[in-house]
Amino acid sequence: MVQISDVKGNKIHESRTAAHTHIRGLGLDDQGYAKQVDGGFVGQASAREACGIIVDMIKAKKMSGKAILLAGGPGTGKTALALAISQELGPKVPFCPIVGSEIFSAEVKKTEALMENFRRAIGLRIKEIKEIYEGEVTELTPEETENPLGGYGKTISHVIVGLKSYKGTKQLRLDPRIYESIQKEKVAVGDVIYIEANTGAVKRVGRSDAYATEFDLEAEEYVPLPKGEVHKKKEIVQDVTLHDLDVANARPQGGQDIMSMMGQLMKPKKTEITDKLRLEINKVVQKYIDQGVAELIPGVLFIDEVHMLDIECFTYLNRALESTISPIVVLASNRGITTIKGTEDIMAPHGIPTDLVDRLLVVRTNPYNSEEIRTIIEKRSVTERLPASAAALDRLAVHGCNTSLRYALQLLAPAGVLAKHSGREEIDIQDIQECESLFLDAKRSTAILQQENSKFLP
Ligand code: ATP
Repeated sequence: MVQISDVKGNKIHESRTAAHTHIRGLGLDDQGYAKQVDGGFVGQASAREACGIIVDMIKAKKMSGKAILLAGGPGTGKTALALAISQELGPKVPFCPIVGSEIFSAEVKKTEALMENFRRAIGLRIKEIKEIYEGEVTELTPEETENPLGGYGKTISHVIVGLKSYKGTKQLRLDPRIYESIQKEKVAVGDVIYIEANTGAVKRVGRSDAYATEFDLEAEEYVPLPKGEVHKKKEIVQDVTLHDLDVANARPQGGQDIMSMMGQLMKPKKTEITDKLRLEINKVVQKYIDQGVAELIPGVLFIDEVHMLDIECFTYLNRALESTISPIVVLASNRGITTIKGTEDIMAPHGIPTDLVDRLLVVRTNPYNSEEIRTIIEKRSVTERLPASAAALDRLAVHGCNTSLRYALQLLAPAGVLAKHSGREEIDIQDIQECESLFLDAKRSTAILQQENSKFLP
């Protein structure tokens, strides 16, 4: 039986977007023009405006069968633009960033790995009306009885939960299984919780001082709580991806004997997601959509260094783009004309076969000037809570221009550590100078390798 509820979204790609937490959208005005500094973005105006038009096309469902290519040098904001497209499409729209080379592994077929990432980039919003008990916990008492199986000790037979709402306090005597969810959610007296009437699942919503308002899980903001009773109906919204559903429904390989269980421990991700399972999940998803319980939320699949894909992957991509449920595919490349991987000598722009290039809307990203680089670094220093003096920012901006924006941004964290060691709140120029000698940039590192080649292993 395919299960669709109670799937936890996976957080695998969160670390990949950590460098972009200052990006909140494309920063366009009502006419679709880019403001020089907005949405976390600095400059790169025409690319942002082009992406804005693409967002409008996606919303008008005019992008099916097409994909986007962001072409430009390293660190020119391609990943940031793809993330901003997903943010402009709405809250909780999946964003799945990968690098072309990562789909090649000894264990998983490359097209299988591509398919997995396609499904990570397709969201499903499930809405359920649930009967719940909601209120501030005034009492939490596990009722114990002598162990009915004999022997020593006691077992929990019921849990008494006092719930205070606007209409007074009610005492609920609940099944012992609820105790586990109460412990898992770390519920204490004074918390505001809700309990699902038929499953007994417990969710901690906030602390009682926030009870005058209710924490709206969907909008992530406080909204006035309508006067209600302890027992009421609530719409619960859950966002998952198709990949979350695949994982949750995949049967672990092997049996229950000790050897296969050990095998699963060693390879925890080795659950089998078959085509058959995916088809079955698609059917259930379709049923939920037809019933109006769920809604598909196509997100963004971002494939950086697309020239690393080979001809078979491109054929697969071409086909997948035609499918009725496809995410928005954003490719990125910083290569010019290069050989298509997997062919002997077929050259093509960005190493992408012409039949796929035909489907692409190509957006160029341009190098930044020093002022833009300085502003980007300043934004990151604020977001990372690593304040830097004007002189330190100037020095970093010089690195951003002469070496790369990435290198300059990477120096922020170690410089912050040095400043702290010296008892300073703010990063200063001497911290940057010290970091320069401690950490090489790519150019200097290559130069050293070339000079001292004989000292390294061949
Ligand atoms: P690569 O080709 O190496 O993958 P990229 O083009 O994807 O690079 P990003 O990773 O998006 O570049 O940019 C590097 C860093 O600079 C990130 O932290 C990104 O958020 C930030 N950044 C890039 N462009 C801008 C911009 N115009 N405004 C604000 N931040 C930016």
